Amino acid sequence: MLGKMMREPLLVSSLIAHAARYHADTPVVSVNTTGGIEHTTWGQVEINARRLSSALAKLGVQSGERCATIAWNNRRHLEIYYGVSGAGMVCHTVNPRLSAETLIYIVNHADDQVLFIDRTFLPIVAKLRSALSTVKHVILMGPRDEEASGMLDGLQFYDEVVASGDADYPWPSIDEDLPSSLCYTSGTTGHPKGVLYSHRSTVLHALAGNSPDGIGVSARDAVMPVVPMFHVNAWGVPYIAAAQGAKLVLPGPNLDGPSLATLIDDEEVGLALGVPTIWMGLLAALRARGTKPKSLKRTIVGGAALPPSMFAAFRDEFGVELIHAWGMTETSPLGTLNQPLARHIHLDPQRQSEVRLGQGRPPYGVQLRVVDDGGAVLPNDGKSPGKLQIRGHWIVSSYFGAESSALTSDGWFDTGDIATLDVNGYMVIRDRAKDIIKSGGEWISSVEIENIAIGHPAIANAAAIGVPHPKWDERPVLVAVKKEGANVSEADLLACFKGRLPDWQIPDKAVFVDVLPLSGTGKVLKNRLREAYGSLLTGNTTESTQ
Ligand code: ADP
Repeated sequence: MLGKMMREPLLVSSLIAHAARYHADTPVVSVNTTGGIEHTTWGQVEINARRLSSALAKLGVQSGERCATIAWNNRRHLEIYYGVSGAGMVCHTVNPRLSAETLIYIVNHADDQVLFIDRTFLPIVAKLRSALSTVKHVILMGPRDEEASGMLDGLQFYDEVVASGDADYPWPSIDEDLPSSLCYTSGTTGHPKGVLYSHRSTVLHALAGNSPDGIGVSARDAVMPVVPMFHVNAWGVPYIAAAQGAKLVLPGPNLDGPSLATLIDDEEVGLALGVPTIWMGLLAALRARGTKPKSLKRTIVGGAALPPSMFAAFRDEFGVELIHAWGMTETSPLGTLNQPLARHIHLDPQRQSEVRLGQGRPPYGVQLRVVDDGGAVLPNDGKSPGKLQIRGHWIVSSYFGAESSALTSDGWFDTGDIATLDVNGYMVIRDRAKDIIKSGGEWISSVEIENIAIGHPAIANAAAIGVPHPKWDERPVLVAVKKEGANVSEADLLACFKGRLPDWQIPDKAVFVDVLPLSGTGKVLKNRLREAYGSLLTGNTTESTQ
């Protein structure tokens, strides 16, 4: 017989088992929902996760059944990640910022059996309880709480449930292709769709996505996912940190700039991850206090385009490197991450920054291509924009409960983004297909307009949208939020585009608002803005975005 290697299934439980075996004392820090900071360890998290697996089995939850969470990033949520998946059940993270109607739809669609909730979400869950028809157990993530008991019949308490479980519960060795977690896309149009991650896809994402040119976490790091655990599994960080034995800092509900700045210093966080709106808050807080963060070296920014002005501000004012990354719920999420190649190191700083501002290149395990409207593959020349398609070990194949495939006939997933790719795989998102502005048959990138606007000293945030126009089909309009105390006129703001964009790409109008409408994952809801300003260039408009 020829030789043979061992075959061990790639299971989520193997990640935490490793952390407990070799990094049992490494800290896990958690900001509690009800206040205060808790310090625990990977060893303790693993014990609680095993207890939880055993308790869920005693409650009668079957392998493959869904257990949902509506929770912040905290220690109990981490234990649920591992306890649920470890036992062979599916951890369904629900975005708490969804409308009541969508929340009910998602929980019923997923056929959730158990619902774990943070105290923050008890009032809403109590109100919706009767509509959550599949849920048999609602478990409050904390100790017994009589006041909470009075708010919801049959409410159980996480700490009691965990205490009833067995700390030596043996995690089953199951097929690695079985599902471990479930996350719904935010569905800005139509119903949200569920992406069912497998143990195998999750572990491969945690390993390959954490290469030195990927997320790059080591056992010497303290890593803080500010990105919520309900937003594509906090981009895989809870799994990566366990696999590497890194210190994990979970920021709980306080995601404002000053709270994050304090937590970063107190817990010596070296790497943090989140969407650009979060880093806008941190930047403002750092500027207000006027000192550099003590330990923060790197920040991974994704979920929406990284504004160039923010990249420069963090680097030049605070010595923090921003690393741009791209992904989506359907891609687990890591699709690309921007680290330079050897050939970029000696470029002049200006050119090097330009390279770093794109969304980066795929790690091992992901392939990208761009195609035209007819499906013909476009050249990787860095300048031919097309529909971005992706394939790989951690990319969706079909949505939860869907009969049909989510892929093209030749096996690629169409991302809905418009991008260019260069010969080294560097990808630049020009826009989302549905956000790109079509003026007189030409495309205008809303992202490019926003990047310039956000760089204006008086502007805190901005969104560019295509507004119907009698002659050009659509023309760009800028919706902008001024920085507190800053003043700028529409004409002055529009003047900043002169010479930086071709004249025909400069917005026709700029309107000022107090806030931009944001989605549950912190992205600007451009469909709301399109509704509000849809007739700005043709007639009357309601100037409200609420
Ligand atoms: P949704 O926005 O629908 O909640 P996702 O969180 O999965 O869903 O978002 C995926 C989308 O976010 C991508 O298709 C892309 O349009 C956008 N996106 C993610 N990262 C970036 C980035 N770095 N730059 C620009 N757009 C991004």
